[in-house]
Amino acid sequence: LSDRLGGVFDRLTKQGALSEDDVKTALREVRVALLEADVSLPVARDFVGRVQEKATGQAVTKSVTPGQQVVKIVHDELVATLTGEDDPGKLKIDNAPAPILMVGLQGGGKTTTTAKLAKRLKEKEGKRVLMASLDVYRPAAMHQLEVLGNQVGVDTLPIVEGQKPVDIAKRAKQQATMGGYDVYMLDTAGRLQIDEVLMQEVEDVSKAVSPRETLLVVDGLTGQVAVEVAEEFDAKVGISGVVLTRMDGDGRGGAALSMRAVTGKPIRFVGLGEKMDALETFEPDRIAGRILGMGDIVALVEKAQDTIEAEQAEKMMRRFQKGQFTMNDLKLQFEQMQKMGGMESVLGMLPGMGKAAKQMSAAGFDDKVVKRHIALINSMTKKERRNPQILQASRKKRIAAGAGMDVSDLNKLLKMHRQMADMMKKLGKMGKGGMLKNAMK
Ligand code: GDP
Ligand code: MG
Repeated sequence: LSDRLGGVFDRLTKQGALSEDDVKTALREVRVALLEADVSLPVARDFVGRVQEKATGQAVTKSVTPGQQVVKIVHDELVATLTGEDDPGKLKIDNAPAPILMVGLQGGGKTTTTAKLAKRLKEKEGKRVLMASLDVYRPAAMHQLEVLGNQVGVDTLPIVEGQKPVDIAKRAKQQATMGGYDVYMLDTAGRLQIDEVLMQEVEDVSKAVSPRETLLVVDGLTGQVAVEVAEEFDAKVGISGVVLTRMDGDGRGGAALSMRAVTGKPIRFVGLGEKMDALETFEPDRIAGRILGMGDIVALVEKAQDTIEAEQAEKMMRRFQKGQFTMNDLKLQFEQMQKMGGMESVLGMLPGMGKAAKQMSAAGFDDKVVKRHIALINSMTKKERRNPQILQASRKKRIAAGAGMDVSDLNKLLKMHRQMADMMKKLGKMGKGGMLKNAMK
């Protein structure tokens, strides 16, 4: 999948301008990628249609390559669609005690998420939270919540056998009011699938307590089913947000996009594991990258744009193509790497360069080494930086001593410079600048 998108990207970077056909070809692949990520067909179709319109309209932009342009438009549109609230982690829990109703199918992760969220409210917002299980069908489920409550240090409503869900809900409200709790969370029973009894029960509970938030907890790996479940619950009780669980799995998270597109409900949190702290605020950027399934090219483009002027990059490119790569150029590369968060993060973001990054870090090329290399270059004269070939034994000794290092350190730097110069030359000849040009912009 990422190979396929990477391929489209490569092809497009080698062409001068973005034609309608280019966009169409690229978007056909994007559509397949979305479907593979488990986005539903109508949503994928609709999404691609929107991007098509935007992309073709923007075809004249010169400052980025056509491939970057398409990828960026796709990415931005994904983020825009996925974004529901500015601050999805902020729940409406002002008037104490605020009821939060947790709904969803059985096994979706309701009980786990209830405890995770309670822990979060307690630790991050200093709230006093009470949890109550309304799962009267499975006594084990009530104990499960109690055990989790003990684990995270959050109170649970004492279990009384034989009570109906609505009565438990009322008791929870009473206890929360008397006990001075800020929030009380109601963990409802689920079913294997939507059924009338379940829906009626949830509706009754909802009416009894008028929840400030009704959070639907769904398994993020179930794709289309998750969306249908969301629609059902929303029609019956009105949901205020969604928690997608099992986002730690291999799934590409396409359910998130369908969920947003179809229900319009904000995704608030994602569950990333079974542990009690494996709950994070929903971040559209991250899911977008995951759905696209490629190295985070967009982030690289944006970061790099901030740090190097486009003209400067052009000029450098022309020199590199001619095989001119000075110590100052190398120093600049090092400094860029530092700014962009280190060697591995820079190369890791480029498709196909992950391996190079690994090799380099395997060879002990980390950020500490970068600092030492910069110190060595600083210790050279202008002439030496332009022409490292002139470095003889005596000059080497002087430079190394100046930087407080050994000649062997300097030799390593010189070797790296030669390799980089070679690589730059080759990359420069590839396409019209190809990957390197992208990295520079
Ligand atoms: P409920 O029936 O909706 O209450 O679901 P549970 O909370 O009992 O969760 C069912 C199973 O899913 C449990 O084994 C949980 O540990 C597991 N689970 C819940 N959330 C996540 C998650 O985000 N990631 C993973 N890997 N497992 C989860
Ligand atoms: Mg449960």
